[in-house]
Amino acid sequence: MKVDYVLMDIEGTTSSLTFVHQVLFPYSLERMGAFLAAKGTEPQVSGLLEQLKAEVWPGQETQKNLTDLEKLLAEWAKADKKHPVLKALQGLVWEEGYKQGHLKGHVYPEVPGVLEGWKKEGLQLGIYSSGSVLAQKLLFGHSLAGDLTPLLSHHFDTAVGGKREVTSYQKIIEEIGFPAPQVLFLSDTKEELAAAQKAGFQVTQLFRTSPAQPEGPWPGVQEFGQISPSRS
Ligand SMILES: [Mg+2]
Repeated sequence: MKVDYVLMDIEGTTSSLTFVHQVLFPYSLERMGAFLAAKGTEPQVSGLLEQLKAEVWPGQETQKNLTDLEKLLAEWAKADKKHPVLKALQGLVWEEGYKQGHLKGHVYPEVPGVLEGWKKEGLQLGIYSSGSVLAQKLLFGHSLAGDLTPLLSHHFDTAVGGKREVTSYQKIIEEIGFPAPQVLFLSDTKEELAAAQKAGFQVTQLFRTSPAQPEGPWPGVQEFGQISPSRS
């Protein structure tokens, strides 16, 4: 397999789904109220809250308080609503958690060593996740294996589009500057792999919790050590 760039999904690929769903999301749900009470008047946070009130309760902004906001955000979080304000606030809550050492970003045990090896061979590495760029940088910056961000050249989130859209991968190609056939995309989700493949990428499917039975015309592996990209 000849590649110059490896683009990676996070959940189910570099990191466990359990970490995101059973650690990160409950953490932000639990801490959001206290966070809003403590930081709600700081410009960065109050700006987001005003934006949210104006959008959800136009004309009634002044009647809404932190409790209303907290309730709304909790409902959205439980429904996994992909709203930019919710994502930004979750990112800020996680940032505190990581900085205080309450959170360590999960990465599968072989991932740091394999990424270092690829980097040494001259490959560039990037992340494409529906988690915000801030959340991605926090996870890899405070991972179980320390700060992995120096290994990563680019971070993409849904600002480039949905992960099941071919156009998102075309935009990423413009940004990273390598032709699509020289880029390998790693994900556990067949719809994402199909979209990337349509955009011309090489793709490989990860099976972290079940035997590797590819769900499309591409290879399937259980861990990064089974992938051997070499430079074109
Ligand atoms: Mg995934």
